[in-house]
Amino acid sequence: MNNAYKLSGKSGNIFILGLLIGPILITLLCIIYSYIDVYNPFVYFTLLVFIGLLFGIILIQKLVIRLSKCRNVTSSIIYGLVVGIFGIYANWCSFLYVMLSKNNFPIDLTELMLNPSMIYEITNALSEEGYYDVFGFTVKGGFLWFVWIVEAIGILGAGALGGLLVLHEEVYCEDCNRWAEDLNFDLRLAIENKDLSKQIIESNIIKILDFPIYEGENSEHIRVNLHQCSKCQSTSTIDVDLMTYETNDKGEIKENNEDFSEIYILNNSQLKKFTNKKNGTAQQFV
Ligand SMILES: [Zn+2]
Repeated sequence: MNNAYKLSGKSGNIFILGLLIGPILITLLCIIYSYIDVYNPFVYFTLLVFIGLLFGIILIQKLVIRLSKCRNVTSSIIYGLVVGIFGIYANWCSFLYVMLSKNNFPIDLTELMLNPSMIYEITNALSEEGYYDVFGFTVKGGFLWFVWIVEAIGILGAGALGGLLVLHEEVYCEDCNRWAEDLNFDLRLAIENKDLSKQIIESNIIKILDFPIYEGENSEHIRVNLHQCSKCQSTSTIDVDLMTYETNDKGEIKENNEDFSEIYILNNSQLKKFTNKKNGTAQQFV
């Protein structure tokens, strides 16, 4: 019988610690981004840096949610959205701050952030004048507003995505009050029939110990993942991914993985059987 693992649903410190450090980290990232945005002469390079900003936001969200020990999916998404909206504001303020400083209108960043009507006036003036050229045309007016809105949607999306993705397949040891580690177990097992294998996993995941070790090359198989609390070493879980392969237009083979099972709790003797299975294969090849 399988014993499904579920996060406890506790929100941890996400609405205190998270809402304190998330915005600070994102503001710092936005300031760095704004300096590159304003001072780099290549508009196209800015696009790459913008993608970097989005990845940075996702990473910050993940880090903050882990640090705050949030085990509640809804809370992590709410947090992600709130900080995403804040990120839009912080990015806009830091952009104006760097822009004004460059044009010899030094202003205090916190003063600017606390003064929305001033932000609105400067933004309006900026949209009428424009401040950069693409293909020899100055981007301004409605089109500039469109660019800004796309940028804002990107930042909000990254903020929310960071909140949404972070708890996927994460395991928390409630006894030790810490996250369990991914053991990078990476045991590959062969399957004959995808649907049948899925049924076996859903009825009793321990039965996959009877599956042979995968020794093929670039063919469909499953990967066994284990998580364990490094402190008590008794909170352990297992989950399975389906590994598939596809060839892209350049002829390169790409490995894909998708969830093939829920997360189940393992007791110590079950965990040992899996490690033995993997070590047994390692010895065969040594
Ligand atoms: Zn533990």
